[in-house]
Amino acid sequence: MRIGQGFDVHAFGEGDAVVLGGVRIPHERGLVAHSDGDVLVHALCDALLGATGLGDIGRHFPDTDPVFADVNSMDLLAQVVSMIRAEGLAVVNVDLTVVAQAPRLAPHVPEMCERLGAALNLPSKLVNVKATTSEGLGFTGRGEGIAAFAVVLLGPLEEPAASDH
Ligand code: MG
Repeated sequence: MRIGQGFDVHAFGEGDAVVLGGVRIPHERGLVAHSDGDVLVHALCDALLGATGLGDIGRHFPDTDPVFADVNSMDLLAQVVSMIRAEGLAVVNVDLTVVAQAPRLAPHVPEMCERLGAALNLPSKLVNVKATTSEGLGFTGRGEGIAAFAVVLLGPLEEPAASDH
């Protein structure tokens, strides 16, 4: 078993939506980022890379590289999942927390779990997403940005048994 944790923050800026867990959520502001600003997926990628002993998202997808400009973070996640697999590891479960004063995220959580589960090859039940505010305190409470925390567990990759056909 391997455990990993990740953390990320993005500031609010111009825009009309935020992307969290691969889900576009209409909002009066967007998140400032080189990519699509999916702070939840970035924290998840960092946790997965951490558990695998492969450093962090900035090492693999540097924001100074124009290749990653406006990139869909779910594409980065797919690449991270491939790296884990190449190390003989598979994701057992993930537990994620988004801290945002707004927008209201609860209605979008089931879709985030579905999309992340598909990317991780996990049933959505093993992809837990929690959304909380920080009670008006700190940068998240003042609506200056969104923070995300991720914890993941990895186990050995079990290849499906070869078919008899
Ligand atoms: Mg980020």
